[in-house]
Amino acid sequence: MTDIQADAPIPFAGDQLDYAEHLRDPEQLQALIKKTSARAILLYKGQIGIGDGGRPHRVHPSDLIGHDLMAPGPVFLGLEGERPIFAFSITKPEAFMPEENFVSLRGIGGNLRPSDLALAGRAKSLFAWHFSDKHCVACGSTTAAQEGGVKQVCTSCGAESFPRVHPVAIMLVTDGDRVLMGRGVGWPEGAMSALAGFVSPGESIEEAAQREVMEEAGIKTKNPRYVFSQPWPFPAQLMMGLILEAMNTDITVDPKELEDARWFTREEVLAVFEKRGDAFMRLPRQTIAHQLLRYWLAETA
Ligand SMILES: [Zn+2]
Repeated sequence: MTDIQADAPIPFAGDQLDYAEHLRDPEQLQALIKKTSARAILLYKGQIGIGDGGRPHRVHPSDLIGHDLMAPGPVFLGLEGERPIFAFSITKPEAFMPEENFVSLRGIGGNLRPSDLALAGRAKSLFAWHFSDKHCVACGSTTAAQEGGVKQVCTSCGAESFPRVHPVAIMLVTDGDRVLMGRGVGWPEGAMSALAGFVSPGESIEEAAQREVMEEAGIKTKNPRYVFSQPWPFPAQLMMGLILEAMNTDITVDPKELEDARWFTREEVLAVFEKRGDAFMRLPRQTIAHQLLRYWLAETA
């Protein structure tokens, strides 16, 4: 029998770091980065450098001296116990390890330790923010990173900005012992997942979930129930998982959003999880859709 409890922590959560807001002034950051115990993980184009043992490769921050770095330079992720953990985004991976050792968190996510995956995801999202938000939203001037890379301040007007997190509703819609899943445009044949969509200004997460299900599949729902959430660093979504009950069952797919949507029985889902059925393609363990299905299977056992 497959273990069908959702993972705890949910993949990409549970980083075990103290974000140490009280240590993020320039003097203390300088002291932290020089500590013998300090370590840095390396990113290259949003991919994480993996070292021996299949864990993120760690170097001392001083090993980065003289290397070209992407803005904003060192990012202080936090304290792991007493150990300061930094992240650097480098431009020449071969100076540290073969380029192929830098891998996508989408690909390797399910194989990393939960705390390593969460730490790498935090670093990836922070660097993506520094890469995309180089200008002040108030006046358009350039911004400068502060507090170890968790804040930007405009060099002209002084406006502050903080790392963005984008809320997304992702939902399992149930009809008795059946669950609704859809295949997005361009996905491989057989790939199916929970429906999802960005929360709009003025909406609660429950309203966003109900609107998206109606728009994408023509299903009216009731009793939206928040289950758990997941940071998703591609680049910085917060996936908020809900379970809703269908009030009608005839699916009307919006072809701009989905190529297909179908009801799957609990037995079909369980068979996929137990690798004895192929009603749809098995979802990667690190996705919240996979975790929501596991949660639902456990809840309905
Ligand atoms: Zn400004």
